Amino acid sequence: MFSLSGQKALVIGIANEQSIAWGCAKALKAQGADLAVTWLNAKAEPHVRPLAEAIGAAIMGPLDVSVPGQLEAIFSQIAQTWGGLDTLVHSIAFAPKTDLHGRVIDCSPEGFGLAMDISVHSFLRMIRLAEPLMPQGGTCLSVSFFGASRVVRHYNMMGPVKAALESAVRYAAAELGEKGIRVHALSPGPLATRAASGIDHFDELLQAASERAPTHQLATIEDVGAMAAFLASNAARNLTGGVHDIDGGFSITA
Ligand code: NAD
Repeated sequence: MFSLSGQKALVIGIANEQSIAWGCAKALKAQGADLAVTWLNAKAEPHVRPLAEAIGAAIMGPLDVSVPGQLEAIFSQIAQTWGGLDTLVHSIAFAPKTDLHGRVIDCSPEGFGLAMDISVHSFLRMIRLAEPLMPQGGTCLSVSFFGASRVVRHYNMMGPVKAALESAVRYAAAELGEKGIRVHALSPGPLATRAASGIDHFDELLQAASERAPTHQLATIEDVGAMAAFLASNAARNLTGGVHDIDGGFSITA
């Protein structure tokens, strides 16, 4: 029921072994999918290429979504090599530090625009490029956080950005549902990754999550990967537009 054998999956957002995208790539591979993997730039390549090779990625290359043409290049490589795509994982976000560390009402229009472009609009661009490669349907996943719907101290500007991402997921799901293309957000509890280290007092978030979550377990990248693999599978064919909490139940607590 959960086999992804024969599926083709593009995973964007691996920076290192701690990355949520790496948890997704490992799980998709474990269920039988063939993978395409990208790295941000030449500085990231030595960290990501060995991981891409370890999971036998058939397609790999650079992708900075703010560099014109790079996204189109990776999708055209997928079209040429595979002729189609089943699963897309968008696990990237960015916010300039000065904007991220200040009050939401103080953030600059440039910083807010950049965060929205890289963290939200890039997902829409990817879905649009994936659409013609998914004639029999497919799954598009992004990664959100609880701070989208609740005020989480120090999450600041990323709160409204993730709220926009979750809304974009719902609209894209509605627009593509009849084509069998399903769109979801995974919403893990806090995980110690490189992106997370940019959030002030992140250790407090981790501590609160393990104290308050009914399971008292922090989410792991393997937990997120398992959910990604399930959503990519045929077993989840009638699910779309969801925001899936992977947080030991943290989000049900007051
Ligand atoms: P990470 O640092 O491992 O991954 C972030 C990725 O974003 C990196 O691979 C980086 O190269 C990529 N990126 C940034 N700017 C980019 C650009 N212009 N073009 C292409 N890629 C770019 O950290 P992570 O925690 O695995 O983050 C992945 C996603 O998970 C993010 O959307 C993040 O907001 C979300 N998330 C993280 C947590 C957490 O606690 N770590 C919780 C919920 C959601």
